[in-house]
Amino acid sequence: MVVALHRPTRAIISRSAIKRNVANACAQLDEGTELFAVVKANAYGHGLVQVARLARQAGANGFCVAVLDEGLALRDAGFTEPILVLGIVDPVCAELAAQNHIAVPVAETSWLEAAAGTLTGDSPLHVHFATDTGMGRIGFTHRGDLADAAAFIDAHAKQFELEGIFTHFATADEVDISQFNKQSARFNDFVAALPKRPRYVHVANTATSLWHTACKGNMVRYGVGIYGLNPSGRTITDLPYSLAPAMRLESALVMSKAVPAGTTVSYGATYVSSKDEIIGTVPMGYADGWLRRMQGFDVLVDGQRCPIVGRVCMDQFMIRLPKLYPAGTVVTLIGRDGDDEITMQDVADYAGTIHYEIACCLSERVPRVYVD
Ligand SMILES: *Cc1c(COP(=O)(O)O)cnc(C)c1O
Repeated sequence: MVVALHRPTRAIISRSAIKRNVANACAQLDEGTELFAVVKANAYGHGLVQVARLARQAGANGFCVAVLDEGLALRDAGFTEPILVLGIVDPVCAELAAQNHIAVPVAETSWLEAAAGTLTGDSPLHVHFATDTGMGRIGFTHRGDLADAAAFIDAHAKQFELEGIFTHFATADEVDISQFNKQSARFNDFVAALPKRPRYVHVANTATSLWHTACKGNMVRYGVGIYGLNPSGRTITDLPYSLAPAMRLESALVMSKAVPAGTTVSYGATYVSSKDEIIGTVPMGYADGWLRRMQGFDVLVDGQRCPIVGRVCMDQFMIRLPKLYPAGTVVTLIGRDGDDEITMQDVADYAGTIHYEIACCLSERVPRVYVD
């Protein structure tokens, strides 16, 4: 995909914020507990390889990705640390994962049987048993099946190595801990069903690492915290360390103009100026990940809030300005300008979603620029 380098729209990513967040998370961990930086989905829109490098510098021991290709991209970039794929990989790709020392989750013995047919045994495939304790997504649901899978691995020791067991919590970011406690108890039962503990026993995403520190494991899958975002949104504000938002989203006016009352703006002509107004045009749109439903939200220009007027187009949108500003004037979509600030959370609230989705939806067309 083409990256629009010759346009003023860009995501500015603070290296120091990413490093601080990871270092703070590492400092919290018990001796012997590792942190795997979750860099799936282009590191939540922040740039896979760049974030992985920064996380490693700040103390991350390994990486989690969603799909095998993301793991291969890290290997291509020269990373030698452990990598775990979090989603189910097609068993026909088992040998490719094994050759690249990329660990995969296993949720069914039938997966092992299918993969066994393709694994040469040159390099054993590292697997982590996924256990479904209440997320309902992937994982073993019965202890007996888990014991069978462990026995299968024992009988195919050249092809497989059981490296981990894990689960994923559905409500670690909520105030009510009843579902969390149920899942935690079920996970302990699963672990007890194994003849011996594998190297990694892991349950924690960012929320669990922040708010359920009594919940033990020896590896943390630390994701959204890397990017300085609170996994609970605004629900739980009590944090053991502050999270530094890593991304700023910026553009610049390409034009601004004075218009008389009655001027229509954008598709559908749904906005009509009610008096003499100044309308500015910003070169970013829904193809960049600035959602159509951001109509009516604000951006910052010269420290002032300016509303988005008319429909957001694919590549541009319009704002109402307090006065004429020259082309090139900075427009802040996410970040601080003067005394005011718009956060990723503010954008998510307005769009009726979570900040994870806003960050991930920023398209490849928007250049990522790394600073400080
Ligand atoms: C995405 C993901 C994580 C990271 O979650 P955050 O909330 O971003 O910390 C951890 N574990 C699994 C299984 C995931 O899919």
